[in-house]
Amino acid sequence: MYLDGKWVGNDFEVFTEIINPATKEVLGAVPTGGAFEAEQAVDAAHKAFKTWSKKTADERYQLMMKWYQLIEKNKHEIARIMTMEQGKPLKEALGEVQYANGFISWYAEEGKRIYGETIPASHPNKRILVRKEPVGVVAAITPWNFPAAMITRKVAPALAAGCTCVVKPANQTPLTALKMVELAHEAGIPNGVINVITGRAAEIGETWLKDPRVTKITFTGSTEVGKTLMRGAADNVKKVSLELGGNAPFIVMDDANLEKAAEGLVQSKFRNAGQTCICTNRVYVHEGIADDFLKLFQAELEKLKVGNGLEEGTDIGPLIDNAAYKKVEALVNDAVSKGGKVTYSGLKPAEDNGYFYAPTILTAVHDDMECMKDEIFGPLAPISTFKTEEEVIERANNSRFGLAAYVYTENLSRSFRITEQLEYGIIGLNDALPSAVQVPFGGYKESGLGREGGHFGIEEFLEVKYISIGLD
Ligand code: ADP
Repeated sequence: MYLDGKWVGNDFEVFTEIINPATKEVLGAVPTGGAFEAEQAVDAAHKAFKTWSKKTADERYQLMMKWYQLIEKNKHEIARIMTMEQGKPLKEALGEVQYANGFISWYAEEGKRIYGETIPASHPNKRILVRKEPVGVVAAITPWNFPAAMITRKVAPALAAGCTCVVKPANQTPLTALKMVELAHEAGIPNGVINVITGRAAEIGETWLKDPRVTKITFTGSTEVGKTLMRGAADNVKKVSLELGGNAPFIVMDDANLEKAAEGLVQSKFRNAGQTCICTNRVYVHEGIADDFLKLFQAELEKLKVGNGLEEGTDIGPLIDNAAYKKVEALVNDAVSKGGKVTYSGLKPAEDNGYFYAPTILTAVHDDMECMKDEIFGPLAPISTFKTEEEVIERANNSRFGLAAYVYTENLSRSFRITEQLEYGIIGLNDALPSAVQVPFGGYKESGLGREGGHFGIEEFLEVKYISIGLD
């Protein structure tokens, strides 16, 4: 663990092992911390806040850019660590490191543009000033599917705003986070500005929720844990940002460019073996073009190679753990028991010692199957057909989630009609990869609260202070 600029925990009695999901081998272990270390982390962050928040934006920019340059220099090593603990193919891991680092450089710059306002007063002898100030100590709790990017998407805007952070990475993937923070240390980010604690998640979370010095909780993960954190944050009215589960519909209209849609579905469904919160969950294809589309989609799928992410040419790595594997299996069984058909199942690697799930197409799918309601988080594509635009919009919106949705159509008026009616925070219109550092990422309904990325993202770490001035 990295606490107040020091490495702690080597002398612990209890450690948590990190497993490579492609081989089930133990990669290493991290200390199993708890309430005591979580509180120490807040002590350090609270102390560091006093000086970090007073630095100029340019001073923070210089330090953050040093961190950025060190990550760039070490990107291949970080990507390798990520592939080994998380499973994603090395080329995807490298892509994630660059995406993650993009948040650091983008927010290092954005920190210079935290502008206030002056507002015309209602009295000649008054002046009104508005300034923005850092919220204070930020607790960031992150998931395993993007071990680097979910940390920088929170920590970079927090740091740029003048906040300090206590971070709890996912138990499955702490090594990427620890490598990144090692580089932050080398870059000269002062002690206490970032602290990383590993261990008992619920206990660490509860400690941070109870501590009034923590003024903001930012979380990416399951809707269930997100709700627990939101409830806990109520006691001392902490600010909360949540990026939770999704159930993304992928809609292919009869006027779509089918080649582009098939290629897009492969990207959106199988990236990270289907384990991203904006991955396609449900596919809706117009009945008039469903057969043609399925042929194209399957042909694209047949090109994909499942295997160890470290091997050249791998497109799909293993799932994160046995629970994830069992969940996908159960969703397929549920669908088949209700009339669904497995029309394609790809090849698994010849030597299978990991949690590999072959890419699978399910057809004859109905909305009452679990795979259409629950987040799949695996390489399973359930395909259902529809007749009309109205029908598909209604079915797409019929979910408690509202993170991402995808629409393929070549008709301009229809594009506007559909995208404006979809109750989702992120829409990919003829685009399967909508993530970028400068965009507002977040969901409607139970998919979350607040936005990360772009100029929207930094506002989540700022308080607004209004100063009313009476002149003589
Ligand atoms: P996932 O299903 O992606 O593992 P989780 O919501 O379980 O999603 O985990 C996301 C992050 O939240 C991880 O870092 C995990 O350790 C942490 N976490 C899990 N339970 C709690 C909890 N009760 N309080 C705080 N953090 C938690």
